[in-house]
Amino acid sequence: ETEDERTAQASQLFENFVQASTCKGTLQAFSILCRQLELDPLDHSNFFSSLKAAVSSWKVKALWTKLDKRAQQKVYNQNKACQGTRCLIIGGGPCGLRTAIELALLGCKVVVIEKRDTFSRNNVLHLWPYTIHDLRALGAKKFYGKFCAGAIDHISIRQLQLMLLKVSLILGVEIHVNVEFVQLLEPPEQQTEDGPGWRAELRPSNHPISDFDFDVVIGADGRRSTLDGFSRKEFRGKLAIAITANFVNRNTTAEAKVEEISGVAFIFNQKFFLELKEDTGIDLENIVYYKDNTHYFVMTAKKQSLLDKGVIINDYIETERLLNSDNVNQEALLSYAREAADFGTNYQLPSLDYAINHYGEPDVTMFDFTCMYASENAALIREKHGHELLVALVGDSLLEPFWPMGTGCARGFLAAFDTAWMVRGWAQGKSSLEILAERESIYRLLPQTTPENISKNFEQYTIDPATRYPNLNSSCVRPHQVRHLFIDGHSGLVEKGGLSRRPVNLPRKESEVRPSRLLTWCQNQTRGYRGVDVTNLTSSWRNGLALCALIHRQRPELIDFDSLNEEDVARNNQLAFDVAEREFGIQPVTTGKEMAARAEPDKLLMVLYLSRFFEAFRKSSL
Ligand code: FAD
Repeated sequence: ETEDERTAQASQLFENFVQASTCKGTLQAFSILCRQLELDPLDHSNFFSSLKAAVSSWKVKALWTKLDKRAQQKVYNQNKACQGTRCLIIGGGPCGLRTAIELALLGCKVVVIEKRDTFSRNNVLHLWPYTIHDLRALGAKKFYGKFCAGAIDHISIRQLQLMLLKVSLILGVEIHVNVEFVQLLEPPEQQTEDGPGWRAELRPSNHPISDFDFDVVIGADGRRSTLDGFSRKEFRGKLAIAITANFVNRNTTAEAKVEEISGVAFIFNQKFFLELKEDTGIDLENIVYYKDNTHYFVMTAKKQSLLDKGVIINDYIETERLLNSDNVNQEALLSYAREAADFGTNYQLPSLDYAINHYGEPDVTMFDFTCMYASENAALIREKHGHELLVALVGDSLLEPFWPMGTGCARGFLAAFDTAWMVRGWAQGKSSLEILAERESIYRLLPQTTPENISKNFEQYTIDPATRYPNLNSSCVRPHQVRHLFIDGHSGLVEKGGLSRRPVNLPRKESEVRPSRLLTWCQNQTRGYRGVDVTNLTSSWRNGLALCALIHRQRPELIDFDSLNEEDVARNNQLAFDVAEREFGIQPVTTGKEMAARAEPDKLLMVLYLSRFFEAFRKSSL
């Protein structure tokens, strides 16, 4: 074998990888490439340079130049900014993969787990100018020749995933498909320094990644995020029923001529919607059409017209029941969407044949869009037995997009960069509360971002938020406001179904409210009261007298302590709960009855509840 032959073979293997058109195909071509060229994909810090050395034909030069340019940005510090940091990313959607790329460039060890093994979403995402620039700089055109053709400002979700998957692999990201994240596993109490740290419970449970210890976990698993500890805000609008439909694109000249309908402008075209309704009985609030791998339509339909056209069979108040598959006439839905698409494109698309989806069915979906979710916070830190874990959300898990505007990818990538910036700060040893406060400050900007109000200087974009947000105030949230996002070992948050659903109410980590300190403070505050002897944070509080004493010490006029009866457990507690809520704004965590029903109160709840008193009273009681 000559040198030339080897170069040609390497080049061919790499082209096979680049041209692979499915998720599985890509992973397979990658593994063949690595095997034949004797590259070790697990050697993440050297993989990219070894690959470049092994594949050096002219065909690939342009791609290497692009990726090198990116990798040489100062923020990455020559791939060493986060050396030694180990990251688990849950979900191989566009945002999970985009985050993986940034973390790999920073020098982290990155593992992505994805529960599926196919990229099958035909639906199309709108790209903002900066995302087009960003993807081009990652070599989009190499992976998907049509990427920059014409005035295209959109891409199908699967094409986007496919190219990001390839870039991730090139940069040394480890990717596992058919692996589902179940939950976080706390580090056990350990005798030795190097015992296991944070791990993940996975399905299948015997997967080798179950033994992976990580310092950072990123929830990129879409709208139904599985990571505990994040509460969600819900934006409830008026009832909105959305329909997406994909038709086969045969790329004929006739099809090429048909004009796209860009969402934003069209919403204001009332005449169109009136005519549509008159001619067809279809009543829409908006419609978008993108010509991509498929002819893709997304529209918001009014309920009455869906009922009139027989798409929805019976009218129910609860949306879930309304849109349940047994209340939807699938044939009528297919006609409805096709008719709307036909009218919207002025009957110019020659044959509207449905593309086939993942399940082998015509690719049309109808779903409820009434509620959109956003996570209350973007990140938190957990600490257990000396192991800290940075937990962050990106993409739809963080902020759900409005599909007709397709903001998912644009805002999703911004959050991916912001998250990578946070990981960098963390690896550099910035204080936990500082990086959490900074992350929350930046997160506040995200829902307001538009293509117009972010920086136009795309060439300067890095993961440093200051390069992207013109009016950035990265300290608008102060460290003391994010103490609740530092969750230490005492909260036991990870247990499913426990306190985890109420993360806003969690005990705060602040050096002062460590339980031992809290106990001492409570003892001092309640000393000398009849029938009160605080020796712990559980049973000592059951009869309610200690709580009443705590309040009485602070504001004697609020409670007539002498009149209280030790036996009256429910009443004493309820009294304290009510007074504390009314006078100090401290939310009760349980009821008087509940206290009476239990042998002793739950420690976590009590720590949480008493910390509130500590915070409210300590200034006056020091
Ligand atoms: P996603 O793209 O949702 O990716 C999440 C990934 O995580 C998925 O691959 C999923 O399989 C994986 N995953 C989930 N749970 C686990 C787990 N426990 N363990 C391991 N992996 C897990 N936006 C639009 O603008 N227009 C559209 O028409 C449109 N259609 C969509 C259709 C579907 C079916 C879905 C799911 C989303 C759609 N979106 C659409 C949203 C859009 O895809 C996202 O905004 C965009 O892809 C960025 O999302 P993401 O990467 O955060 O999450």
